[in-house]
Amino acid sequence: MIFPKGSSLPGSSPLVWSRREFLRLASACTATSAVSSTLPLHALAGSPGQKVVIVTFGGGARDEETFAPDGQENIPGLLKTLLPQSTFYGQVINRGILGHYVATTSLATGVYETFNNFSGVAPEHPTLFEYFRKGMQREAREAWLISPSNGFRNMGCSTYRGFGSGYGAEVVLPKQLLQATKPGNGGAGSNGAELDRLLRDTYEEPHWNAGTAQTEMQLEQLEKMLRVSPAEFQKQALTMQSADELSTWVALQAMRQAAPSLMWITLHDIDVAHSGAYSLYIDGIQRTDRLCVEIWNALQADAEYAGRTTMFVLPDFGRDSDMNPAGNGFQHHRTGDRASRTTWMMALGPGVRQGLFVERAVDSLDLVPTVGRLLGFPTPLAQGNVLNEVL
Ligand SMILES: [Zn+2]
Repeated sequence: MIFPKGSSLPGSSPLVWSRREFLRLASACTATSAVSSTLPLHALAGSPGQKVVIVTFGGGARDEETFAPDGQENIPGLLKTLLPQSTFYGQVINRGILGHYVATTSLATGVYETFNNFSGVAPEHPTLFEYFRKGMQREAREAWLISPSNGFRNMGCSTYRGFGSGYGAEVVLPKQLLQATKPGNGGAGSNGAELDRLLRDTYEEPHWNAGTAQTEMQLEQLEKMLRVSPAEFQKQALTMQSADELSTWVALQAMRQAAPSLMWITLHDIDVAHSGAYSLYIDGIQRTDRLCVEIWNALQADAEYAGRTTMFVLPDFGRDSDMNPAGNGFQHHRTGDRASRTTWMMALGPGVRQGLFVERAVDSLDLVPTVGRLLGFPTPLAQGNVLNEVL
């Protein structure tokens, strides 16, 4: 179900005040807010070297386990390292369908897509990647999308006439890359059983119908685009604890090899919450927190990115409130209540005002037009509004 702007969300707890309160508790934010208004506006908007990296903070994360007072211990990296440098939107409303594929795709089109979440189909409206490539006349290697599962493989390119396949993103499916390296799939190595723990494709959906990733194409992408051998990729993967660590490694490798100007990394470990194990959900949040800092630090250490990259971090949506009898708390995102629709976003980079807290409600769809304005390309079908604070 989609909730139009202006309609009130179900659920009784007003989150606005609490969001301001929890940020007051964040000493880092409080300490820097005094200087925020004196910093210059973004000096690089629309400049040729400007880059944008978007990180979605897992599949569904609630305030209670992140920025609310009791959750802050789970996100030391966001709180102490990234928040002081960021403009923070404390109330981002997702009014679309709360399924990860359709919601993440909607974030990327700036339109609440209405296709079946489980279908894995390409969106009807142009994606950010297509707007960027067409508007800026960029090659495919300039726009990369790191996707968490085969079901997300069609997110990088719409079916919209005049856009579509000639302008889509270079889509990377880290788990499918790894699968392709397993013995029996034409790949090298003998670590099949050890790698299986990284290969679970989804926590939620019973089936996907997005087609099968082709082993040959996966191996070609691994070796020619990412410039890593199957054996080396397996060696790296064996050191990792989770699929999101694998995605992050692939993203950093893509930065080193292709230095794309637009990169989208969809992290998804947090969605293990569907298993009902609260400890695994918290582990996922803590890991995602660490990976966000790792990505940011890698950007600062890379000459192609340092000083010219704006990073956005946002969950796709929240999860159900413990107080909603129609749900089962953190485990799912089925009710469409306020807790599951209300989340946050941080933006950081050169010229972005640091320590700024934006209290007014913004919309999940605002990301696309904002990035378009930042990089200098039009996003004509996107329905959100430009967030002027980060320009
Ligand atoms: Zn989920």
